Amino acid sequence: MKAIEIVGLLDRWAPRHLVEKWDNTGFQIGDPEKEVEKVLLSLDLTEEVFQKALEIKAHMIITHHPLIFNSLKSITRLNPKEKLIYNIIKEDIVVYNAHTNLDLTLNGVNDTLAQVLEIKKTKPLNVVYEEPLYKLVVFVPNNHSDKIRNILGDEGAGWIGNYSHCTYNIEGIGTFMPQEGTNPYIGKTYELEKVEETRIETIVQKKDLKRVLNKMIKAHPYEEVAYDIYPLVNQGEIFGYGRIGEIEKIPLSNYLDKIKKKLKVDHLIVYGFMEKDIKKVAVCGGSGSSFIYDAYLHGADIYITGDIKYHDAQYGQELGLTIVDAGHYHTEKVILPVIEEYLYEKTKGALQMEIFDKSSPNYVVY
Ligand SMILES: [Zn+2]
Repeated sequence: MKAIEIVGLLDRWAPRHLVEKWDNTGFQIGDPEKEVEKVLLSLDLTEEVFQKALEIKAHMIITHHPLIFNSLKSITRLNPKEKLIYNIIKEDIVVYNAHTNLDLTLNGVNDTLAQVLEIKKTKPLNVVYEEPLYKLVVFVPNNHSDKIRNILGDEGAGWIGNYSHCTYNIEGIGTFMPQEGTNPYIGKTYELEKVEETRIETIVQKKDLKRVLNKMIKAHPYEEVAYDIYPLVNQGEIFGYGRIGEIEKIPLSNYLDKIKKKLKVDHLIVYGFMEKDIKKVAVCGGSGSSFIYDAYLHGADIYITGDIKYHDAQYGQELGLTIVDAGHYHTEKVILPVIEEYLYEKTKGALQMEIFDKSSPNYVVY
């Protein structure tokens, strides 16, 4: 399968419009037309990861963190980063990453972290985007209504909660008069035509609207398709950093043991009050110190994230919040098997994939 097709599948899960302005994410290196059979999945793209890709003869590397973040002025072999990029291009390996869009999207980094830590009833800790919703109404001759309904549903229109292909249908009479130069599906020029039609209404998310319209118009028998689009004030899907939710009330120390087991970490750094039972848990994969106050506002008993600095810990303590630093790497690596599963399902097993689970810098607790 072509690299660009894999990129398209990932963009559909972690859409481009969720990428933060400061971020640099997406298709970073290589030929979009390259045939890809083998993919290496990793959190980062380091020299070690590149060597692994060579060893397993991977055609593509997919990461969470971007390899190219700041703009490059040259690609030489004079510094480690440029040398790595130079060698990747020479080996004709394709590089793609999904960063902030994968943090924010549904079933992305944060949802996965919350699921792994068995947190229920979750919602975003810090909302950054709400998907606008539209009502789409289209008028279809009755004998084509099944076909159009299926296309609308297959392209993502009509999702309400866990229900897909939701539509409402009313039958009625449509009228039209073909004018000079037309080539009508039914009727003759300058004669008023009456046709039994179905008014199909459904709901569409903004991100799907263009694709749904294109497919619908292509499949519709009429030369000029009659359809309306209404903006809605119903709340659409919300996307944000971190998650807040609940666990069964247990002593903090029991839950800390669970975190270590589930994230497969040897140690945690716990700031704040240890002797308490906890129920409300906030998480943010990676570097989540910016959302300490959000965790507090949502009434979290503890906040699990990575990259907690001295003053972050002090701030958490002032707020009465227990903060658990489980490490940037360990709170994000949970996404790798989810990417593998997603691509396996979407490509019906066409790709061979391998996860490289050792891209974090080496360290010891001495
Ligand atoms: Zn990260």
